[in-house]
Amino acid sequence: MPLTYTSLGDAGVMGTSCHHLTLNGTRVVIDAGRHPRTGDTPDLARLRTLGADAIALTHAHLDHCGALPMAMRCLPGRRVLATPATAALATLVLKHHLKREAGAAGAAGLPFHADELKALQWERAAFGQTRAVGRDGVTARLFDAGHLLGSASVLLEGGGVRVFAPGDLHLMDRAWQRGATLPDAPVDVLVCESTQGANDALDDVLPERVEAALMQAVGDALRGGGRVLLPVFALGRAQEVLAMLARARDRGEVPDAPVYLGGLAATVTRLSGEFMDALALVEPVVDVSRFGTRPLTPAVARRPPPGPAVFLAGSGMVVEGSLAHTLAEHLLDDPAAMLGFVGYLDPDTPGFALRAGQREARCALRQFPLTAHARRCDLVEVAARLQPRDIILVHGDEAARAGLAAALGQALPTARVHRPGPRDVLTV
Ligand SMILES: [Zn+2]
Ligand SMILES: [Zn+2]
Repeated sequence: MPLTYTSLGDAGVMGTSCHHLTLNGTRVVIDAGRHPRTGDTPDLARLRTLGADAIALTHAHLDHCGALPMAMRCLPGRRVLATPATAALATLVLKHHLKREAGAAGAAGLPFHADELKALQWERAAFGQTRAVGRDGVTARLFDAGHLLGSASVLLEGGGVRVFAPGDLHLMDRAWQRGATLPDAPVDVLVCESTQGANDALDDVLPERVEAALMQAVGDALRGGGRVLLPVFALGRAQEVLAMLARARDRGEVPDAPVYLGGLAATVTRLSGEFMDALALVEPVVDVSRFGTRPLTPAVARRPPPGPAVFLAGSGMVVEGSLAHTLAEHLLDDPAAMLGFVGYLDPDTPGFALRAGQREARCALRQFPLTAHARRCDLVEVAARLQPRDIILVHGDEAARAGLAAALGQALPTARVHRPGPRDVLTV
């Protein structure tokens, strides 16, 4: 029985993840993302035409959940299959962005209404639980994707076909989160993310080494009386760095200086305490919701207190108007301060320009390649373990998908590797 795959988002960029799969007559949608900066959405008109019997959400990043309320207009009466943590985080994230856009665009320009968000119906499933989807004996099972609190991979089975869609994936243990778990039997089709497909330099990078370098630099700056600004994404990176700070303090590697955290990052951190089980945490377990942070408000960012302190501030890309941007303006002239970049930066953002040295800075500028995405070698390992006959590469630009396709071609010469365009339909 063949599988039909349709990319409703643009599989060749990150931002509008939305996959439509038909197996054994059952139509399943995985994710409905909205580009965090451009506001682009998946092809919802096409979704209306194709229809769907079920929808699953892998995790709560906007590029996967941002268009969910709009997608549900095409899927009336359906429940969204997700882990309990993803259901809670996605609701929080969507509410936050609706509020932010209401301020920027006014009610008339909003992508969806608060009522639509409230009306979302969730089918909550823990990792390992199997749920029937549709009416034709097709099942879905969620696996820990190791990418974000609650993040799940989806295994679909029906009509003798096994399809594994890992979503965004991280294979190794990190400070706050265990690496992904995978099905223990081969699959027929793998729908694989490609984020780091062109970045083979990362193949030699281990999370614990990056963590050690970051904590060493933070400790050195604080011991020198300096202030440390780490621009972070509210969801995931902020909590990961908090866990590192907690561990490093316990080991005496980082002095006990104030840590400032605010906005959505603080709310997510508080909420994370309720979902510790979903993290399958690494030892020693760190409950970051108990980390004693101080509130990072606009007033604090405008007048950062002197003396050693760590500021975990959004936005991760230091966009204009953000707390990270305000703080950076203060700390750039401070030779005792350190500005550490701990995440991805789009080339046209202020964070990218700062890191590239395009601004004069007296503070130390450092970069630490933390990533929540599997390295290219890890993605090849996933494919080697699952032995799919067809691999569909998504969630990566052309260079990333080409790089990963080349590596997969060497490791699994008999597998067919596909790189669908935004409107392509594949039957495999
Ligand atoms: Zn993600
Ligand atoms: Zn993503």
